[in-house]
Amino acid sequence: MPDNNGNNNDNKDDDQYEKYCYLCRRPESVCGECISIPPNLHICKDCMQKSFDTINDKASQFMDFSKFPNINFSQFMPFDDLPKSQKVKKKKAKPKSDEAEKVLSLENIPAPHKIKAMLDEYVVGQEYAKKAMSVAVYNHYKRVITNTMDDIEIEKSNMLMLGPTGCGKTYLVRTIARLLDVPLAITDATTLTEAGYIGDDVESILSKLLAVADNDVEKAERGIVFIDEIDKIAKKKETHSRDVSGESVQQGLLKILEGADIEVPVGSGSKNAMTPVTTMNTRNILFICGGAFPDIEDIIKQRLNKQSSMGFNADLKDKHDKNSNIMKEVTVEDLRDFGMIPEFLGRLPVLFTLDALDKDMYIKILKEPKNAILKQYQKLLELDEVKLCFDASAYEAIAEEALSRKTGARALRAIIEKFMLDIMYEIPRDDSIGKVTITGDYIKGKGAPIIELRGTD
Ligand code: ADP
Repeated sequence: MPDNNGNNNDNKDDDQYEKYCYLCRRPESVCGECISIPPNLHICKDCMQKSFDTINDKASQFMDFSKFPNINFSQFMPFDDLPKSQKVKKKKAKPKSDEAEKVLSLENIPAPHKIKAMLDEYVVGQEYAKKAMSVAVYNHYKRVITNTMDDIEIEKSNMLMLGPTGCGKTYLVRTIARLLDVPLAITDATTLTEAGYIGDDVESILSKLLAVADNDVEKAERGIVFIDEIDKIAKKKETHSRDVSGESVQQGLLKILEGADIEVPVGSGSKNAMTPVTTMNTRNILFICGGAFPDIEDIIKQRLNKQSSMGFNADLKDKHDKNSNIMKEVTVEDLRDFGMIPEFLGRLPVLFTLDALDKDMYIKILKEPKNAILKQYQKLLELDEVKLCFDASAYEAIAEEALSRKTGARALRAIIEKFMLDIMYEIPRDDSIGKVTITGDYIKGKGAPIIELRGTD
């Protein structure tokens, strides 16, 4: 039955449907109770307040309606635009697993060695990074839980990770956030610009975190933010214009990194009159920055060579030129020379480097992690009762191919997907196949996989 407003839906299934705000489109479960305006409009309190503020500020300055007696202003009202119904179906509440209910507390926060052991199950190598991260994360959350962030004057454990592309920077952060069950926002520093310029304001990082935490400010305030490609906001050298995507972004991030109350737009990356905002305190948010810092090796070598060309150490000069692990020697001074400002570096006290992946590590990545991609394929084919095996030459061939692509472990997936396509297409076609063995020759495109029929072994 239509109600007085001619609206069919609004009173129906009230427990299944909820109102949403006409302006910001958020449902009541997110924006709070809406105010209903006849004939059929619902607006949340945030948007209502914003509209009033905007009207008070702006309209009163130039809109004197009495000066236009012949104009019917009501015709400008968007009544044609009014939606027939302003309700959306409620999302079904997710069944809460034990895992989801677990809130970090002093009793259940894992000690650093346990965090590292958990990381070991997923991340191959990178021993130092895993250790540094476990300790930093443990200390951070211990302080957050006991609320002693202010009492003891220890800096926040924000981190700066250096490492070539595809060596597992993002993967490490993802894994740790999942293990601790805290919200994680991953963002790219290249998209950020100084407020007022085209691009995202630095607050957009926090908007993302808020969105990941289902707009629960309290939950978001304990989350982790990973800012990738941080080397791209280094100070531009020899620039004559304003450096809106480099140094200015570093400046903009300072306040957020350290901990402050920040006005954050909800549900969008940019602030404008119609975007509701909320206040977030970033004191307990853990910030992790990562970057490949290309060419920083030259800066490090230069510094080391300068040191070693003096006095008795002069003979060490060549040693640094040949050292392939030179990134490990990085210091704050080198990063400053690279173009990071000292205030920014000061707010990222935990600095460490990840290793470039070598052939052995690639092979381990293929075999060992709990969710290794080859294991996933094996599992898939197991459902068809087919055994998938790889011989040693196959691992070698995949690792060599990945090494030559120079895109880190990301290349592994691309290579595997390519050769597995035919297998995944052909195998389910033939019921008699019981076992498939992938060889190095097959990977290199020189032969076929070894197929064994059921009942032959
Ligand atoms: P980046 O260092 O560029 O952020 P990622 O962390 O995104 O690289 O790595 C890309 C993918 O490579 C990950 O999703 C992961 O599957 C794999 N990977 C990279 N490094 C490792 C590692 N050390 N152990 C296991 N898998 C890894």
